[in-house]
Amino acid sequence: MFDLKDLYQEIIVDHNRAPRNFREILDADIKAEGYNPLCGDKLTVYLKLDGDVISDVSFQGEGCAISVASASLMTDQLKGKTEAEAEKIFETFHELVTDRESEIDLEKVGKLGALAGVREFPARVKCATLCWHTLNSALEDHDQGKDSHETISTE
Ligand code: ZN
Repeated sequence: MFDLKDLYQEIIVDHNRAPRNFREILDADIKAEGYNPLCGDKLTVYLKLDGDVISDVSFQGEGCAISVASASLMTDQLKGKTEAEAEKIFETFHELVTDRESEIDLEKVGKLGALAGVREFPARVKCATLCWHTLNSALEDHDQGKDSHETISTE
């Protein structure tokens, strides 16, 4: 029988074992570090922008399976998207992992749905959202012309 939970588990295991876009972008326009002290997850997100389109996005770092899989899925989703689209995806994702009452619209969230399970575990939400918060603050700083080479902590 088809079991969605098994499929989700598989996506997380796969993205943790073989993270997508796990590399440094040497000429990145934006580089930002994120740290989740609750779990010890530490990630660096790299971005290349072409106007307001994310032409390349990658990450490196160490963390638990949830944080690595989430960053891998995020980079997979964001390539080729505009900043505004990225923000929308982040909002959708944030609701997915934090709002226990929200309905999971698989058409809207796609593979990111694999992380919906963390909504049942508040302590793991920060693992799943670390890469997104890091990216978001970096984009905001960038848009305001600020240097984003600082560590963003989710605490
Ligand atoms: Zn973690």
